[in-house]
Amino acid sequence: MNASVSNLIDQHGRRKRKLRISLTDRCNFRCRYCMPEHPQWLPKSQLLSFEEIVRVARVMVADGIQHIRLTGGEPLLRRGLVDCVAALDALRGQGLQRISMTSNASLLAPLAAPLKAAGLDDLNISLDSAEPATFERMTGRPLAPVIAGIDAAVAAGLPLKLNSVLLRDDNGAQIVALTEWARARGLPLRFIEYMPLDTPGRWQREQVVSEAEILAALRERFDVQALPRGADPATRYVVDGDYQIGIISTVSNPFCASCDRLRITATGELYTCLFAQTGTSLRTLLREGAADAALLDTIRDAVWRKKAGYVTERGPVERPITMHAMGG
Ligand code: SAM
Ligand code: SF4
Repeated sequence: MNASVSNLIDQHGRRKRKLRISLTDRCNFRCRYCMPEHPQWLPKSQLLSFEEIVRVARVMVADGIQHIRLTGGEPLLRRGLVDCVAALDALRGQGLQRISMTSNASLLAPLAAPLKAAGLDDLNISLDSAEPATFERMTGRPLAPVIAGIDAAVAAGLPLKLNSVLLRDDNGAQIVALTEWARARGLPLRFIEYMPLDTPGRWQREQVVSEAEILAALRERFDVQALPRGADPATRYVVDGDYQIGIISTVSNPFCASCDRLRITATGELYTCLFAQTGTSLRTLLREGAADAALLDTIRDAVWRKKAGYVTERGPVERPITMHAMGG
């Protein structure tokens, strides 16, 4: 197969090149926009083993996946993570180009250098506020270990982006402050619109700070110029000529038309969209000894049936799986 062309194509002609793999539904944080108040963790026996994860990844890389992102829950909670990254690193010869991770970074300090050595290319780190009280109110945990994790990633030479979910009544007034904080450290920052994916009933449209509002807040302080839109879900802007921010406007301006990603939950369900109501179980096939070809048939079929996305079905998603279990 030509490595630059993905065979994983959906009925709307969108080829898939990115795969997000959730390593665990567990998390040491309690972000209110993500977690239910009393999360019920999945039994460990239901989670894919690293061998199962690497097998699925190998099959999908051979079919066109170029970029794998490890996520969760909190991926740093999964024991053996460094070995898992090293095993994925071995797929580079088969077409894998990038291994990334999304993390709250609170446990990153001792792991940043080993992860880099194992093959991790870059990190997205969630940072909703650089103001300790706001951070703790939103995540239920202190800010200091996260800053230590960010510092360790920088020291290890791991490129990183900061991701901030904005909630109007929490950090909604800190857009400029967080931008200044990140810019002073030379760290790229992306604001994420609050998506209707948490515990059913908690999301409120009034709490979403839209891309237009984010830009209005930034323009009161900075000169902000839009950059041409690429395949990235974030629209990028140059701030005062020397710093870039991104805005992921899934709610006000969905990027479904160019979506090139797939997701696998910690229990091995393939979700073709963050907003899909159901997934396709790969774990059963894996544990019943299915051949690679049968696994691939199931994956291709599920990918083909991928719907247009949030762009056509806006609003809260009613489903048994929440964001931390899906893998954001
Ligand atoms: N624990 C890791 C972290 O927080 O980075 C990885 C998993 S988390 C589910 C992945 C991303 O999803 C985070 O950047 C988080 O802010 C984002 N997220 C969670 N719930 C969200 C929501 N309701 N709307 C928008 N983004 C959300
Ligand atoms: Fe945990 Fe990440 Fe969800 Fe926060 S956003 S509760 S850190 S999984």
